[in-house]
Amino acid sequence: MKTIGLLGGMSWESTVSYYQALNRGVKASLGQLHSAKICMYSVDFQEIERLQHAGEWDETAKILCKAAQSVEAGGADFLLICTNTMHKVAPDIEAAIHIPLLHIADATGERLQQNGITKVGLLGTRFTMEQAFYRERIEQHFGIDVIVPDRSARETVHNVIYNELCQGEVRENSKQAYLAIIEALKAAGAEAVILGCTEIALLVQQADTTVPLYDTTAIHAQAAVEMAVQSHPTHKVEP
Ligand code: GLU
Repeated sequence: MKTIGLLGGMSWESTVSYYQALNRGVKASLGQLHSAKICMYSVDFQEIERLQHAGEWDETAKILCKAAQSVEAGGADFLLICTNTMHKVAPDIEAAIHIPLLHIADATGERLQQNGITKVGLLGTRFTMEQAFYRERIEQHFGIDVIVPDRSARETVHNVIYNELCQGEVRENSKQAYLAIIEALKAAGAEAVILGCTEIALLVQQADTTVPLYDTTAIHAQAAVEMAVQSHPTHKVEP
């Protein structure tokens, strides 16, 4: 089995979800007492968040490149960045290491494409919804149209992520606000909605809505499990 490298702590609330999903995924695939081989570097998110909001992305890249090199030196065979937003600096991180990066937007785009989705709504931080690095990857690599909520809804989605979910708070009124925004995306033509922030599944789950949801944490972790167990002798091959 390959060793999965993680850049975690962004926030740690969602890194917990990754840790659980990776171990459950390996257990489901290999059985018995199998669990994921993981090498993780977990950052101090306060520092990252401050730099993000100051627009100092080069500084965030420096921190994450160093962390990624530690993960590689620790024996990881490939790397996951456990946040959608920080894929903004994915090209810098890829250039700083020798192991492959499993990009969260590629794992998600592949799944959308497999399911025949042609137009999708995107929820995430303001950075993810408004900047090109994420939307364009889905649009250009997978030919899927990406739409985002209007300005005030984007503000709500962003603030709930940083002020509540990343701090371990899950509020019913925020859940209802998100569900209304998901409905509005559907009304605007989205066939599905990407939960493009690794904490959103802590607030909204598929059982809450009939709109198909694509939880990037679960999809990214599943893709990592498949990559890790591929060559394992007891790996059950899907029929
Ligand atoms: N975990 C979030 C994401 O997937 C937001 C935290 C961050 O800014 O990294 O984008």
